[in-house]
Amino acid sequence: MAIETKQEYLERVMAMEKPRCPHCDHEMKLWEVPPINFSDGLGWGAPFLFLCFNDECTLFTKGWQDMQEHYAQRASMRCFNYPGTDQFECMPVFSAMGGQGQVIDDEVLAQQEMLKEQTKRGFSILADCYVNKDLMTIMQLLTDATEPVRVRIKAAEMIGDLAEVQAVEPLRFMRAGNQKLQEAIEAAIDQIHERHFTRECPFCAEIIKKRAKICKNCSKEVAGQ
Ligand SMILES: [Zn+2]
Ligand SMILES: [Zn+2]
Repeated sequence: MAIETKQEYLERVMAMEKPRCPHCDHEMKLWEVPPINFSDGLGWGAPFLFLCFNDECTLFTKGWQDMQEHYAQRASMRCFNYPGTDQFECMPVFSAMGGQGQVIDDEVLAQQEMLKEQTKRGFSILADCYVNKDLMTIMQLLTDATEPVRVRIKAAEMIGDLAEVQAVEPLRFMRAGNQKLQEAIEAAIDQIHERHFTRECPFCAEIIKKRAKICKNCSKEVAGQ
């Protein structure tokens, strides 16, 4: 049998139906076992467990008192399940927040997955547009705030490669919320100028020849500016 990587194991466990806690009937949450081992040195024997994080769970609420009586400890218990088995056990926790950091939030995972898909889709559209010199669509992707930032940065780079000087003005008006994207837009503007031997007049922002001495628009002297 091939050894399963942690990632493969996680994918398999994520596809399982979440068990319900036998103490409170709440749906249990997928929990990544912290890297530190327990006192017996064996850890939990699985990188992920299902854990009941319900603070009203009877095991948890009664646990504080039981642990105090039996072990004189400020601690309680939470119920856990070995994924894919009917085995439910208890683990000690020392606060209501104990273990919370490792809860794998389904929402976060779903978002990551969606972002990955969207990025892949965006890159494939951009690749087509680049070949077909479809600047309109590239510009749309760049300005679309719902597109992943990586896609928008790629779009900015392509605009730098392909666009005419007319693109400089709309690019100048863009204010990206993301600094990396804003830098990519500015780099694209620089690249467009470089390819066309142009620049912007420091006084009126009109596009002029790089080596112009007088601005054709505002007539100011721009040599050396
Ligand atoms: Zn419970
Ligand atoms: Zn000018």
